[in-house]
Amino acid sequence: MTAAIIDGKAISNLLRKEIAREVEEFRAETGITPGLAVILVGDDPASQTYVRNKERSTVKVGMYSEVHRLPAETSQQDLLNLVNELNNDPKIHGILVQLPLPRHIDENTVIEAIAPGKDVDGFHAVNAGRLLIGQESFLPCTPYGIMELLKHEQVELKGKHAVVVGRSNIVGKPVALLLLREHATVTICHSRTADLGAMTRQADVLVVAVGKPNFITGDMIKPGAVVIDVGINRVDDQLVGDVEFASAKEVAGKITPVPGGVGPMTITMLLKNTLLAAKRC
Ligand code: NDP
Repeated sequence: MTAAIIDGKAISNLLRKEIAREVEEFRAETGITPGLAVILVGDDPASQTYVRNKERSTVKVGMYSEVHRLPAETSQQDLLNLVNELNNDPKIHGILVQLPLPRHIDENTVIEAIAPGKDVDGFHAVNAGRLLIGQESFLPCTPYGIMELLKHEQVELKGKHAVVVGRSNIVGKPVALLLLREHATVTICHSRTADLGAMTRQADVLVVAVGKPNFITGDMIKPGAVVIDVGINRVDDQLVGDVEFASAKEVAGKITPVPGGVGPMTITMLLKNTLLAAKRC
């Protein structure tokens, strides 16, 4: 069997066209242009690239974009002051603080300072808590993107066994909750899971967010499973996922490639959340 490829780039492009149309409609109805502010502290090259992509994509769908580039030595208090200003700025509907922050700044304190109604990354404890108890919230962008991919591919989740490898607050835990919300039976695996392969081989849907190149191999996958590879690892100047693509695609029914799978969906869902934030305000 050779797996069908889930083309995240194409699905993302379709969604972005839809978002651009909705932004235009919203502006025509209300006179409001949804606005996203991104804060970047320091000069980490990967973060700079992510922020540039976010800025470009925001403008491309017709939204207002503002990027605050601050020096690495910015104090926590100055950063909190900026977040507070943006919380009160009517042009801004979504605020994103690019992570990681320099070590002298406490990420949690900064995230908690963002108004929950502008927390388009979905990392604030209020939004995380709402997700847990099934209330309306801003969904974290990568898990949200994964769910959109599964929906687009018409993957049945009800009654299926979904196995999530990784339990981070930004990917593993929230995606597990979203799969549960869709009535999958969910198993969460992590670094202390005994016999990982025995778990992953039971998965009808396998989501892998570990951060280790080629970690899940074809022999760990149930024939016909849907495999979602969240990992982004740089190996010899190439991007590879957490799933060994060559062996996995011979066993899986559907699989996301890296790059071009989950990655493009993350910014798309950030744009969707920003539009939603503007509509809710
Ligand atoms: P974290 O480092 O926060 O979490 C990694 C998880 O993997 C942890 O829960 C850890 O378990 C688990 N893990 C580590 N080793 C093993 C092991 N041997 N067996 C089973 N589980 C293990 O990573 P993130 O969730 O932030 O990111 C994961 C990957 O996804 C990275 O490659 C990252 O770059 C990528 N990513 C991609 C995004 C995208 O847009 N496509 C967005 C966000 C992340 P434990 O908790 O026990 O330590």
